[in-house]
Amino acid sequence: MKKVFIETYGCQMNEYDTELVKSILTQHDYGITPHEADADVVMLNTCSVRDNANRKIYNRVHEIRHGRTSPVLIGVLGCMATNFKTALLENKRLGIDFIAGPDSYKQLPTLISDVENFGEKQFDVTLSEFETYSDVSPNRSDSVNAWIAIMRGCNNFCTFCVVPYTRGRERSRSPENIVEEVKKLVADGFTQVSLLGQNVNSYRHEETDFTDLMRVVSDVPGVKRIRFTSPHPKDFPRKLLQLMAERDNICKQIHLPLQAGNTRVLDKMNRTYSKEEFLDLVTEIREIMPDVSLSTDIIVGFPTETDAEFEDTLDVVNQVRFDMAFMFKYSERPNTLAARRLKDDVPETEKTRRIVTLTDAQRLIFLEKNRALIGKTMTVLIEDSATKKSSTDVKGRTDCNRIVILPQGDYDKGDYVQVLITDATSSVLIGEKGLLSAS
Ligand code: SF4
Repeated sequence: MKKVFIETYGCQMNEYDTELVKSILTQHDYGITPHEADADVVMLNTCSVRDNANRKIYNRVHEIRHGRTSPVLIGVLGCMATNFKTALLENKRLGIDFIAGPDSYKQLPTLISDVENFGEKQFDVTLSEFETYSDVSPNRSDSVNAWIAIMRGCNNFCTFCVVPYTRGRERSRSPENIVEEVKKLVADGFTQVSLLGQNVNSYRHEETDFTDLMRVVSDVPGVKRIRFTSPHPKDFPRKLLQLMAERDNICKQIHLPLQAGNTRVLDKMNRTYSKEEFLDLVTEIREIMPDVSLSTDIIVGFPTETDAEFEDTLDVVNQVRFDMAFMFKYSERPNTLAARRLKDDVPETEKTRRIVTLTDAQRLIFLEKNRALIGKTMTVLIEDSATKKSSTDVKGRTDCNRIVILPQGDYDKGDYVQVLITDATSSVLIGEKGLLSAS
């Protein structure tokens, strides 16, 4: 039995795809090994969202190729496979044997055997209008949270983003197929499911939209927590917010990617909403769910963004006071609309000044908001029976997706625990020993 080692980079969708690839390969009599040195085939499931992500892969392939004495086949999967097909295959120094795009993972067994049989590089980066892997049951590595990809692809074409080119057009699985998977997961002991998609809330299968899907998933007995990511602010109908408020098992946590705070820049990004529309949506969300936790994604230094326009981003951040944020400097991506139309004209030093200013402002807000929870008792789902820093502490998450560190007790991974919050930093809450609770 040939052994395969898979290394995953980038977003949650890539993590999920790796679980799909493991399932497809084991169905074709491949073994999965956690050790690269033991593998006959090494696959890198790549991200192409920023330049350093690509450079990391070139170095890693070189390292594997030149660090091995035994023969090994090297394959590149994911968004780099689609975005850099020619460069990857023609780069003799790297010696990549095969590449497969995000819609071609069912071809992997054939690609590998063709490399072996014909000794030639193989590739399949076809983008599919139909492939949703709805007939593949992922080999899940996490036992507490089950990711479920309900749709694939993206039709939004934000000008800074490669995803529409590397993952193709949107297509959704049937609600019956998804509910069947949720029921199986509950039977396997999962109580939390996270619905996944590049643009998750634009889910649509015939007459069923995202709100309808959330309702039928929430109706499945035994599901105690439902999360979803990554949504687009344009797809938050009031009925979805009302359903979230009504249902105890839908977590009161929304990831709401802002990207930038200035309307002219948002227009250049093709985000389809203005600063005011984003703020109005936040007001509506908080009217319906006052305790909701909001997280976001922000890019600073997008082409042509002025200092004053960056101040608009800071203004939104200070008005909204997000509970969590992922903040990045603009990185030009080949083949994106921005790369083709706009010059990357914000100096690197200025990008750095803006990202430092933004992260400092955010860190203060996180700290204030986390410290406001000291003295509260919160329900925590235990995720890890130890933390990186201490073997006597465990880690878990609140409904609003905050990380809580607490002492070990008569509870374990998958348990719900009532925890009194005693301290907080800008990134985690600290709790007392918890009390096991039903949910
Ligand atoms: S919504 Fe925009 S940023 Fe998100 S995956 Fe689609 S194109 Fe990319």
